[in-house]
Amino acid sequence: MRHLQQRRRIIVQVCVLASSSSGNSTFIRTEKTRILVDAGLSKRDVLARLALINEDAEQLDAILITHEHSDHIYGLAMLAKKLRIPVFMTGATHQAWARAMRNEKGERPKLEKFEQFDAGHRFQVGDIEVRPFTIPHDAADPVGFTFRAEGIKVGIATDLGYLPVSVRDHLRGCDVLVMESNHDLEMLRGGPYPWSVKQRVMSRVGHLSNLALADFLTNDYDNSATFVVLAHLSEQNNHPEIARREAERALAPRGGLFHNRVLLASQTEAIEPIRL
Ligand SMILES: [Zn+2]
Ligand SMILES: [Zn+2]
Repeated sequence: MRHLQQRRRIIVQVCVLASSSSGNSTFIRTEKTRILVDAGLSKRDVLARLALINEDAEQLDAILITHEHSDHIYGLAMLAKKLRIPVFMTGATHQAWARAMRNEKGERPKLEKFEQFDAGHRFQVGDIEVRPFTIPHDAADPVGFTFRAEGIKVGIATDLGYLPVSVRDHLRGCDVLVMESNHDLEMLRGGPYPWSVKQRVMSRVGHLSNLALADFLTNDYDNSATFVVLAHLSEQNNHPEIARREAERALAPRGGLFHNRVLLASQTEAIEPIRL
């Protein structure tokens, strides 16, 4: 008997390293290209979580940023300085980031390799085609992304107050969907946040509720994904099992959960990498 280990070639791998209101970062790779979407963890945590899935941060090709809120950029400056790789942002997000990161003398930080993109205009990182699209959120110029490589499509849409038709269109045909399932409306209404913050979260430029996501999964979702990752769960106003139950209830009549496997992103640890 031959002991030849046949390792299946991984075409695309996706791993949400962390996701919640206190830090977001997702790793996507092909055979040739490795990218990080958002750097909301400290440099140390990004490196450690990549190492836990046997990835070396030194091999990253680029960092892509969705928007300038701290839970998406917290570790960016340090990470970019260490890795010296291109950082892709829209012009407005870059401005807002640099303004927010000024030191006490008012000096703005500089990225060694800043690459500007515009929402609605696709670009290429190695063999991954990236399509950024505008999302409704209270940041300077927030975007979601889809990624395509070798016939596989991955969509990421978190930090959005609702799902406009344009966003729904971008999310068609995804093999992996990373979607915001931020809060349970009852928990948010009865929870500890001040009323002004509750209103912000619930607004059209806030965050997507479990219910809003379930509505999308029931009425608009095209049933294309092998994996649906629930992301950006609020630690105060949601519970992983409530989010999972809502999503699975919406997906169950859509051909079963074997096809649309629901995974939960977490703040404390990376999810088991999805391999396609
Ligand atoms: Zn966020
Ligand atoms: Zn945000």
